[in-house]
Amino acid sequence: MKRRDFMRWSLGTGALIMLEMAGLGCSRDRSPQDLPVKFPALPYKDDALDPYISQETIRLHYGQHHRGYVERANRLIEGTRYARLPVEAIIREAFIEGQFEQGQLYNNTAQAYNHTFYWNSMKSDGGGAPTEFMRRWIETSFGSYREFRTAFSKAATGRFASGWTWLVLSEGRLEIMTTANAHNPMVFGKLPLLTLDVWEHAYYLDYRNRRDEYVQAFLDHLLNWDFAAANLGEA
Ligand code: MN
Repeated sequence: MKRRDFMRWSLGTGALIMLEMAGLGCSRDRSPQDLPVKFPALPYKDDALDPYISQETIRLHYGQHHRGYVERANRLIEGTRYARLPVEAIIREAFIEGQFEQGQLYNNTAQAYNHTFYWNSMKSDGGGAPTEFMRRWIETSFGSYREFRTAFSKAATGRFASGWTWLVLSEGRLEIMTTANAHNPMVFGKLPLLTLDVWEHAYYLDYRNRRDEYVQAFLDHLLNWDFAAANLGEA
């Protein structure tokens, strides 16, 4: 081999090795942190919400349902222009574009996002009337905590089939809204503050078909007002 040819060969190989080292050479070994849709650890132990939500439900709901949405979303996103966007932008843009393929991408991405939001909307020893910051917001928007509680309960119990019940900020006031299937309030121009999953998989093992008991348990023992306050930007 002539010296010039050897140089060209070794430089080429070196450049390829450097690309591999920089992680640009292939996508096979990307770590989960690089993927646009994250699967964060639960903010508490998987038995922390017992007896209101059992460890068995959490393991199935988080470990199977939630994980499944995250994995399908990342598979559908990989190699598309969505891969470079933050997850909120993926949800908004896929919703607006609304094609069938984007529908699957939208549904799985929104479901992954909604579940992370749901885990953060609960804590052990939560629920009941809020204090201070959130109390003022609730009273301004609904009149009283009692009225909020009645309205949230009615919305969550009355949501037909699969979906979510939300506390949202809309035009400077708090509102309760329900969404079907995977929809997130942000695609309707509202800021989500708290959510309750009312798909049957969220409560069927613990409450069978008694969704109203699951809703009461959320309101009285689990609801995390600190998360709502943080989403409202409490200093
Ligand atoms: Mn769910």
